[in-house]
Amino acid sequence: MVNPTLSEITQLWDRVLEKLQTRINDRHIFDSFFSDTYIQSLENNEIKVVVNSGLAANLLSTKYLDVLNMTVVEVTQTNFKLVFLQKGDLEKNAKKVEKKPSFFASSFVNRKYTFDNFVVGTSNREAHQAAVLIASSPGKLFNYNPLFIYSQSGLGKTHLLHAIGNYIRENAPTLKVLYITTDDFVDEFIKYVSGEKDSDNMKDFFKSIDVLMVDDVQFLAEKVKTEEMFFHIFNHLINSGKQIILTSDRHPSEIRGVESRLVTRFSSGLTMNMTVPDLPTRVAILKKKIEANGLDITYFDEEVFHFFAERFSNNVRELEGALNRLVFYVINIKQTKHITMDIAIESVQPLIGSTKQSSLTENRIINTVADYYNLTNQQLTGKIRTNQIAMARHIAMYLIRQLLDVPFLKIGALFGGKDHSTVMNAVKKVEKSLKVDEAVATAIDQLQKRLKKA
Ligand code: ADP
Ligand code: MG
Repeated sequence: MVNPTLSEITQLWDRVLEKLQTRINDRHIFDSFFSDTYIQSLENNEIKVVVNSGLAANLLSTKYLDVLNMTVVEVTQTNFKLVFLQKGDLEKNAKKVEKKPSFFASSFVNRKYTFDNFVVGTSNREAHQAAVLIASSPGKLFNYNPLFIYSQSGLGKTHLLHAIGNYIRENAPTLKVLYITTDDFVDEFIKYVSGEKDSDNMKDFFKSIDVLMVDDVQFLAEKVKTEEMFFHIFNHLINSGKQIILTSDRHPSEIRGVESRLVTRFSSGLTMNMTVPDLPTRVAILKKKIEANGLDITYFDEEVFHFFAERFSNNVRELEGALNRLVFYVINIKQTKHITMDIAIESVQPLIGSTKQSSLTENRIINTVADYYNLTNQQLTGKIRTNQIAMARHIAMYLIRQLLDVPFLKIGALFGGKDHSTVMNAVKKVEKSLKVDEAVATAIDQLQKRLKKA
């Protein structure tokens, strides 16, 4: 790991402890000496670990030093020097020295979100390109500073910010990157800044940052003092050629309750929008996420992807939530490898539920249409393709889609296993005829009236 930050090391320490627990066979020893150790600081490859007693400091730096060193190297890939401090001593010292606050100690760039696992489609192509461009030359493209990305929630803004952070850390590790949410900024401001001196401390802290990413800036609204500080930091960084990247759930001009001088600054660089990804992109995202979960996409029936991508189409977060349910269901409940449509539907039943309480069912629509055209159900749902029967069949599919919002694939299954695109085309065809063919319009109108009577 290249130049891990304090907050990363702090997170990694949990992993170190987990591994140690399995290596130190005596549970009492582990609980008493190791379990409440934590990281105090990281400087020049030296990690200061706080332990709960003098005896613990002694024991960890002698008997257990080898196993500790080995585990730390394994988890961090780095040969850190470990130094052990006693909690009691630390507290005494803390009283003597008035500590400068270390701002945003718990903020970090999340390794999970990278450009590699961000799926690009028409809905996000330009925003992705802008992010890649800025990541490859932060602060250098004067006209593109700040980069401002906006979209409704759950479409990948935060993902892109972390991806930029990860890219820079890999390709320009000397640059200091800070990712924070606007809430973090507001909290830190309120927590630490009560006078002129604190305010200077905070400004100084930001002077050391090369790339500042602030997520969800719409939350600055109505916080006058915080906005003022933000304005100052923003100007300082931009004027010193540092990169700023912001996100919001709306275009700068639509953000209400934020000072106009700040809003003007927001849109003075490059402003990019993302929209809801189209169906093929949603399917590609699903496949990426399944692989990221360590599962093999070949175990999934192809129709499962379409069902999910169609059914959970509002935003990617929702899609991912549904997928997580499926993965959980498959691993913990069904314990099966092969994921069929039935299993997929079962797994998300609580999400899609019986939203439609009406007595209207696919079967009733099929019966009614068959009856209307003097056909049997078998003729309507079968394979015969005379013009008349094909038209009736398409209308039945159209009505099932319109009135019950059933996924195309499931409709296909009702009509002898037709595939997704066949049903979709049939529905589109009816939509078109409806506008130009009076006979079709009348038929549909009468059918809908019959279906309403129940
Ligand atoms: P936002 O910040 O816009 O609300 P997030 O970045 O938190 O959205 O995205 C929500 C979830 O959707 C995340 O898990 C993210 O990885 C995923 N996601 C969104 N867009 C994509 C994409 N194009 N490719 C892969 N994952 C995506
Ligand atoms: Mg976000």
